[in-house]
Amino acid sequence: MPSKLSLAGSLLTAALASAQNLTIANLTAGANCACTQLVSTYGDLVILPDSTNYTAEATDYWDIRADLLPGCIFMPSDASQVADAVSTFVSCGSQFAIRGGGHMNFPGSNNINEGVLLALNNLTDITIANDNSTVEVGPGNRWVDVYTALSPRGLYCIGGRLKTIGVPGLELIGGFHYLINKYGMAMDNVVSYDVVLGNGTQVVANSTCNPDLFWALKGGANNFGIVTKFTITALPIPYISTTIQTFNESAIPAFIEATVQMAENDPGDIAAGSVISVTYNQTTGKIVPSLLGVQEGTESPPSRFANFSAIPSTLTLNNVLTPIEWHSQLDSPNQMMRVQFAHKTIKPDTAQLTKIYEAWKTAVDEISDVEGLLPTFVMNVLPASAASVAKNNGVGNTWGLDDDQSWILWQFSTGWANAVDDLRMTNWASKLLDYWHLQNQALNLSSEFIYMGDAGEYQDPFAGFPLENVQRMREIRDAYDPLGVFTRLNWGGFKLGSN
Ligand SMILES: Cc1cc2nc3c(=O)[nH]c(=O)nc-3n(C[C@H](O)[C@H](O)[C@H](O)COP(=O)(O)OP(=O)(O)OC[C@H]3O[C@@H](n4cnc5c(N)ncnc54)[C@H](O)[C@@H]3O)c2cc1C
Repeated sequence: MPSKLSLAGSLLTAALASAQNLTIANLTAGANCACTQLVSTYGDLVILPDSTNYTAEATDYWDIRADLLPGCIFMPSDASQVADAVSTFVSCGSQFAIRGGGHMNFPGSNNINEGVLLALNNLTDITIANDNSTVEVGPGNRWVDVYTALSPRGLYCIGGRLKTIGVPGLELIGGFHYLINKYGMAMDNVVSYDVVLGNGTQVVANSTCNPDLFWALKGGANNFGIVTKFTITALPIPYISTTIQTFNESAIPAFIEATVQMAENDPGDIAAGSVISVTYNQTTGKIVPSLLGVQEGTESPPSRFANFSAIPSTLTLNNVLTPIEWHSQLDSPNQMMRVQFAHKTIKPDTAQLTKIYEAWKTAVDEISDVEGLLPTFVMNVLPASAASVAKNNGVGNTWGLDDDQSWILWQFSTGWANAVDDLRMTNWASKLLDYWHLQNQALNLSSEFIYMGDAGEYQDPFAGFPLENVQRMREIRDAYDPLGVFTRLNWGGFKLGSN
């Protein structure tokens, strides 16, 4: 919890700084100014539209929709260069975007047309503490890099489930990992953030130093500054027990029931979690429910997935692996398609989830003419025991979830090929989501919680946070970024807005 004293001090700083003004230049003029200054200081670290590697960098994104055309791309190699870049953006009034792993999948979330793209790819330091308790990670790393570095010491940490997802996104917006039921979200495992603020200064935020900012960064996204280092708890977990299971469509009722049971009965004593999804091959009409399950330790098959293992499967693959052996298999290549995620949140309820699934399947038929269609129905379990971690660790997080209820985030992940279908796909998903969310509200089954990592660009995750947490984040933002650099010059992601 932020102390009243530190917040008061920060508010004083805000009051003093409010005498200054932030000038916002015309988009192109601001970028020209910033790019020219950055080139003169940093030369080859700045990529211009006529550079040979411009296209590769401007398209280093997971979702093709996120490919935009920045005026230049600055690739700093240390935190002081990031700080210098922020000062340059402010002095030029230049708009900019920040890219970590580039997985947030909507246009403008991590890239910018005509402005400056600050690509953090080169900040790839990883340092494990001598006592193995923590690991310091630069924001240019992917989770596979972190798991690889930890592996020789038999260590693991709470991060992304697929290997190429970026570190910064998860640490700033939440972070679903397999073992959240015992260890909490990825953000709950960050013990310190190094941050460049909007005035170009570098600060540390942890439980003793700027504790208000520390709390706000846990779920508050890119509203406060640019994180140049995450210090993360390292866990002594040398082995995990894994299961991959696929089923026929006829298994859907039992599959949804097993998901609900998993959510309802999870005291967090055994660290285990999953990726649960149903893919629909529109061409063949084939529905494939699948489970990727991971449990801490070497018990195989992993006991937490017994309800799934009891369903006749088309494939079951149980293994005991090192974490890096597991993650190395789980790729999510960039630029495969245009993709949109969107989700709502429901209490674990088999009957209602089955209805939603059936409605989704029927609705997919309405868009069957869309080229390259790749629809997936995902059920992401958010166990109450994960919320308990934040409630009891003395820090908390901005989600402020109660730990008396587990939830299931029901999500549409839809891929397609052509820009001409973008609007149609958005309308299709949003209408279906809203209809079923209304039904769930009427049945008292819904939550307004929306996870930024699985949200559509038309959704507002902050609206689902407790109002007092949003107010507090706004106060902290105004204290640490009184000029509004990350509100007014920085494109992308989910912004806090005003009262
Ligand atoms: C294939 C796939 C799998 C996924 N799997 C998971 C999963 O297992 N668990 C989960 O929780 N989520 C998952 N997600 C969602 C994921 O958490 C988000 O997309 C997340 O934003 C990715 O982080 P990134 O660094 O790659 O993203 P980026 O798009 O680079 O960054 C995300 C946002 O943070 C901002 N940002 C980036 N770096 C910084 C920084 N250093 N300081 C301040 N702001 C910054 C960016 O501007 C952007 O707005 C998945 C997404 C995809 C596409």
